[in-house]
Amino acid sequence: MILLVSLQIPCATDKISFTKPNALTINSIMKAIDHLSLNIPDSTKPRVVIIGAGFGGVYAIKTLNSKDFQVVVFDERNYHTFQPLLYQVATAALQPDAIAGPLRKIISQKRDFHFRMLRVLSVNHQNNTISTAAGDLRYDYLIIANGMKTNFFGNEEIKKHALPLKWIPDALNLRSQLLQLFEWAGITDDIGLRRKIMTIVLVGGGPTGVEMAGALSELRKYIFPKDYPGIDFSEMQIYLVEGLPRLLPAMSEKASERSAKDLGKMGVILKLNTMVESYDGKTVILKDQEKIDTYTLIWSAGVAGNIINGLEKEWTEKNRLLTDVNCRIKGTKNIFALGDIALMKSDEYPKGHPGVAQPAIQMGKYLGRNLSAIHNGVSIKPFRYKDKGSLATIGRGKAVADLPGNLRFGGRPAWWIWLVVHVTFLISFRNRLLVLINWIWNYFTFDKANRLIIRPFIKKDLEVTKEVFEMNEKY
Ligand SMILES: Cc1cc2nc3c(=O)[nH]c(=O)nc-3n(C[C@H](O)[C@H](O)[C@H](O)COP(=O)(O)OP(=O)(O)OC[C@H]3O[C@@H](n4cnc5c(N)ncnc54)[C@H](O)[C@@H]3O)c2cc1C
Repeated sequence: MILLVSLQIPCATDKISFTKPNALTINSIMKAIDHLSLNIPDSTKPRVVIIGAGFGGVYAIKTLNSKDFQVVVFDERNYHTFQPLLYQVATAALQPDAIAGPLRKIISQKRDFHFRMLRVLSVNHQNNTISTAAGDLRYDYLIIANGMKTNFFGNEEIKKHALPLKWIPDALNLRSQLLQLFEWAGITDDIGLRRKIMTIVLVGGGPTGVEMAGALSELRKYIFPKDYPGIDFSEMQIYLVEGLPRLLPAMSEKASERSAKDLGKMGVILKLNTMVESYDGKTVILKDQEKIDTYTLIWSAGVAGNIINGLEKEWTEKNRLLTDVNCRIKGTKNIFALGDIALMKSDEYPKGHPGVAQPAIQMGKYLGRNLSAIHNGVSIKPFRYKDKGSLATIGRGKAVADLPGNLRFGGRPAWWIWLVVHVTFLISFRNRLLVLINWIWNYFTFDKANRLIIRPFIKKDLEVTKEVFEMNEKY
């Protein structure tokens, strides 16, 4: 697609990265072409437009009735991402397609459902249309399920140098950078440089930080020493930095204590009650002025809502869209919000639902099943979130679980539950099979077979890489 477009508008090539195309690039290219059209057929049925096919969007798609509606789904990616397992792609335990499913496959199972791989640029609620680079589209009902983006809390320096983990390309970047740095650790005599290469700092002690720290420490214990026999892996340091006094702040105290204890035993250096002040790509400076030299700062310290242009300010709070108990954005008639982006306050959840997959899934199903009734003016029951508990894994046979009924436990039983839950909620049978095969392989062989640098990635400003890149160019 990129190649085809470049033939049409060669003058735009200087602005376009051909090595790292992303949805924004594709949109900006398309904007330059005036003969684009969304090509959505006319329909006598009311049209539902869905923005975003993550957990919320996909479950709405699955449950919406094709007899009652024409449905048009926009997503800037052509696949659904199972974000809870991204860290396993980043640490070579899973291949990327094991946690992603093509959206067209899901959508093609329903009649008069259409997919367009485009970012929705704005909502024009006064005339019930959305705008994309390929044109505008009218809607009768709009469902906004576009999730969150990584939050760097306004620190542009950290944003420039840190590695986020939100989408599959982020996970692949991380995997490539980690493996590539270790390749370089093996070809340098500079001890200081090697230490810097072998130090990894994770920021954010939520499930992603904890799971990633555990996975990295297993790579250090079981795999890297075999892969790089000339390197002393007792020099590899993994830091986990969290601003609050405990890990997994959204889970119970027991889960926090257990995860801290397990990670400590696995050799992860915990820095609780500690904020990161700055990072210039080489040195992390913590609030207490401690300095850690590293080329790899993995940022999972927070997310912020993706508010699309055109939505009224009074519909938002803390970068999320305020909804009533039917998922309808307050003050609108026909615009709904689901999942992470939705802020539905209730007595039980005065700050809204947690930003995890289950509220998105349950809201998606709720709205998909009830939209026909809403359209026919029939009153519907309010949405009620069923909390199924929280889980986080720390490593082989180690996890923590907070389940309904005040059940709090850890270790192998929690780990088995974690495995079953994650396999169950993968988007397709193929994904489940792939993940299971990989996990069984990893478990019995102590191996993580996806240690491949398919698409080299290194943050461009790392001094260590500059030397190697320049040498490769020269000779
Ligand atoms: C690394 C990581 C680990 C996580 N681990 C867990 C976990 O262990 N357990 C758990 O329950 N939850 C976990 N979560 C959170 C969980 O993934 C989210 O709560 C869930 O994905 C929210 O679903 P959603 O449908 O609201 O948004 P998302 O799943 O984020 O989907 C949003 C979709 O919208 C699309 N989009 C965005 N903007 C636009 C636009 N303008 N136009 C078109 N499309 C757009 C995106 O491409 C995406 O497909 C994790 C999240 C991350 C990032």
